[in-house]
Amino acid sequence: MITEKENINQLPDEELELIGKFARKKLENDELYTFSLILCDNEIDRDNEKFTIQALNTLAKLFVGKTGIFDHNMKSKDQSARIYAAEVVTDSIRKTADGEDYTYIKAKAYMVRTEKNKDLIAEIDAGIKKETSVGCCVSDISCSICGRNIKTEGCEHQKGKTYGGKLCCYLLSEPTDAYEWSFVAVPAQKNAGVIKSFNPMHETEKLADMAREYQSELQSEILRCAAGVLPEMKSAALEEICGSLSIGMLREMRDAFRKSAQKNLPVVRQLDCGGADEESENSEYKI
Ligand SMILES: [Zn+2]
Repeated sequence: MITEKENINQLPDEELELIGKFARKKLENDELYTFSLILCDNEIDRDNEKFTIQALNTLAKLFVGKTGIFDHNMKSKDQSARIYAAEVVTDSIRKTADGEDYTYIKAKAYMVRTEKNKDLIAEIDAGIKKETSVGCCVSDISCSICGRNIKTEGCEHQKGKTYGGKLCCYLLSEPTDAYEWSFVAVPAQKNAGVIKSFNPMHETEKLADMAREYQSELQSEILRCAAGVLPEMKSAALEEICGSLSIGMLREMRDAFRKSAQKNLPVVRQLDCGGADEESENSEYKI
C-alpha cells in the first residue's frame, strides 16, 4: 500500500545521496519522484502464514536496491520504481490476529520522471490504492503451535485450525533472498498484499497471468461498449489506446463507457455490455 508521497522539492541531501548509489548518473530533485510504501508485515495472511519480526528485519535489508513494477504487465522500465531505503516500523497500538505488535517494512522508492510515467505518477498522487506483493525466499518455516520445522520435521497441526484456542499458522523466518516487489491492482481477496513464495518465479507468473486476463476482459468490454456510444471511433485505434493504459485507468474508462452506454442509448442495454458476443453486436451496428 502506498502510504504517502514525498514533496519533490524537499528531498534532503542524504536521501539524494542514497538514491545516487543506485542511479547511473547524478539525479536532481526535480527529475525524481519518491513515495513511501508498506512492503509487507507480520499479520497472518490468507494462507495462514506470517513473517516473523526477525524475517522482516532481514527482508528490509534485502529489499533495498530492488526494483518493483506496477501491475506486473508493465514491462517498460518507465513503469518501475526502485527501493532506496527501508526500515522496520512497530505500531504498538495495533495488534496482529495472534496478538503481536503490528510490525511492517516501510520502504521508500524513487522513479525518474519521464513523459511515459506521468500518468502513473498522477495515479499515485491521486491516492489510487494498489496492493504490494513481494517475492522472496525463506529457509525456515515452523508451526506456531509446537514450533517444529515444517520442512524437516513436520507435525500433526494444520494451519488455519485452532488448538486450545490458539490459531495454528506457519511462521516464516530466515529469509535468504528478496526477488522483487510489485503493485497489483487486481487481486480481489480481502487481505491480498503479501505473496510469499518458495518458487517465486512461478507465483509471479501466476499473478502476471491474472493481471493480463483481467486487463483483456476490461479491454473487450470497452471495445464492445464503444461500438455503441462512439461508433465513429475505429476499434484498432481504441485498442491501441487501451494497450497503453494501466489497469486502474482501464477500469475507469470501462465504467465511463458502461454508464454512457446505459444512459444515452437504451437500445444498447439489450446487447448487455458485459456479455454480448461479437457477432450479434456487429450486426446490430451495421449501418
Ligand atoms: Zn505443530
